[in-house]
Parts: sequence; C-alpha cells; structure tokens
Amino acid sequence: MYYVLKKKDLPKFVKLLNKDFEVIAPVKKNGSLIFDKVSSADEIVKNYINTDYPPKNLFLPDGETIFEYKKSNNIKIKHPGKPKKRVIYRIRPCDVNALLKLDKILGGGFYYRTKRENTKIIAINCTKAGENCFCTSLGDDQLKEGFDLLLTDVGKEFYIKIGSEWGKKLMKHKIFKRAENSFKKTFFECKRFFLAKDLDKKIERNFNTKIWEKHFKKCFSCTACSVVCPMCYCFDLVQVPKSENEGKVKKFWSSCLLKEFSRVAGDFIFRDKRVNRVRQFLSHKFLYGKKHYDEFLCVGCGRCISHCPVGIDYEKFLEEIK
Ligand code: SF4
Ligand code: SF4
Repeated sequence: MYYVLKKKDLPKFVKLLNKDFEVIAPVKKNGSLIFDKVSSADEIVKNYINTDYPPKNLFLPDGETIFEYKKSNNIKIKHPGKPKKRVIYRIRPCDVNALLKLDKILGGGFYYRTKRENTKIIAINCTKAGENCFCTSLGDDQLKEGFDLLLTDVGKEFYIKIGSEWGKKLMKHKIFKRAENSFKKTFFECKRFFLAKDLDKKIERNFNTKIWEKHFKKCFSCTACSVVCPMCYCFDLVQVPKSENEGKVKKFWSSCLLKEFSRVAGDFIFRDKRVNRVRQFLSHKFLYGKKHYDEFLCVGCGRCISHCPVGIDYEKFLEEIK
C-alpha cells in the first residue's frame, strides 16, 4: 500500500521531522552539493541527480575521535557517546545500497553501528540518470530494503512506500493520505551499461595484463575518487597527544591509492607503482568484495568519474574488461 504527500506540504513534512530528529538533506555549500543539517524545506536542493559527496561522512566521519586517554595512577579511557537521532531525507537508492553493503563489512563495529541505528532513511527514487551513472549495470538503481520511507516523484505529489514501523506511524499524520490509485513507477536507463556477471572472474584473469597501464597511466594518486566514493572506507588511526600523559586517538580517511597505505614493517612498500594501487582499488571493489561479501563494492554512482581531474573513467575500463 502507498501513501501520498502533496508537494505543497513538503515544508510541513520537514517541520514534522525536525520535531524529533536532526534532519540531514542535500544542500549547496561552498559550491558543492552535500548532505548537511537543515531546519526548513527551503534550504534543501530538490532538483539534482546525485550529490557531489555521498553521505558516508555521517557514518564514518573523517577525524572521528575513537577515544580520549589520560594517564595518572592508572589510565582513564573515555569513549564518545551515542550520536543524535537523525533522519537522512532525499537520499538516492545507490547511496542507500552503498550503506547496505557497508553494513555487511562494518556493521559489527560500535562506531559505525550506533550511527546506523540512530539514523532513519527517507529515500527518493531517481527518475533519470546522470551522464556518469552506471547503477543499472550493478542493480543498485532499485531499493528493496534499507529505507523507512521511499518517495517517488509523480508530478504534483509523492507516492510513498513504507519500509519500517516508524515510517508506518509517521503516515498517521494528516498531511499524508492513503493512495487511491496505484501508480506506474518510472524506470530509467543509464547511457552507460555493461553486463556485470562474472566481472570478478574477468578481473582476476586480467590481473597481470597490460590493460591496467593502458587505462590508468595518467593517475597521480590524488585520491579524489576514493574521497567521493560511498563505498571507500580505508582509514588510518592517529594518536594526537595533548601532553605527555593525555591525548586522543583519531580515525582519518585514507586510501589504497596512496603509497603510504601499503607501507609495512621494515619500511617495505608492496604497491610502489601507481597503476598497481589503482588495480588494488578496483580489485577490492570487484574481485575481493565478491569473494568475501558476495557483493561488488561499487554501486555505479559515477562520482569517481565526475571528480577525476585527469579524466580517468573506471566504467570504460569495466566495459572493456567485460
Ligand atoms: S567506484 Fe565510483 S561508481 Fe563505484 S561506488 Fe565508488 S564512486 Fe561510485
Ligand atoms: S581521481 Fe583520478 S587521478 Fe585521482 S586517484 Fe582517482 S583515478 Fe587517480
């Protein structure tokens, strides 16, 4: 069963959410489209394909304090408290699917899990694809689970699908009406498309071929692609001392594209060549992800293509390797 919300009632909807939650939605800030706190519907960018940055910083913040320590007679450790209750409004299916995949990998960890548990998801279906999207190749354009509410824009109103008890309760408010008619969901096609079946096997078979050099020789390890990727979660733990006996341990984003990331004991760097680091980036997503989690660790959002300063196009590589 579906519910209907008239678009003219969107300000009331955001006000209703703001009563009990911190509302996070797409906003324009310093020239970029990002997810950030909003207090009213006017602040929200509605006409967009995808945000420049995914919402992963809400679950894996860069520079997060893992614990604080103080040494006197004994060592006192202070952990951060639980995050605030919040709702992400207008998140796209690819970004929700990225969270569902991250749950399989990081869901057992305190820091990630508490943030996931405290966050409601109000997703919105896409009605068209961006020029770099290839989510349909990976099946990440559709949402079967992982949302509290799922909105579909049908012109003057939204059709709403319920995904949780919380979502069901919210529909009792007078701004929502039960849908009298069913509606036809719009399916869209991405211009970029390849058959993803056996992609992992093809990557494995081509592991030592010249195809990597051909596509990635221009890469200069800026890591823009992994910063904007909703599925990249590599990190470094850094001790930040305040004094000899006091300080914090913080977690900062890192990337397998960086030389330092593969430095091990004995000062040995086992992925010295840039192209081998790009191979690691893609193999982690399409070969090891499939082996360990039965998932491709990519949702085809296309951000890596849009943000690469030298025009490296991972999707073209995937098409060729297929
Ligand atoms: S690898 Fe690129 S297309 Fe895939 S999820 Fe990451 S940013 Fe999106
Ligand atoms: S954004 Fe482009 S140049 Fe930068 S690390 Fe990624 S592939 Fe390399």
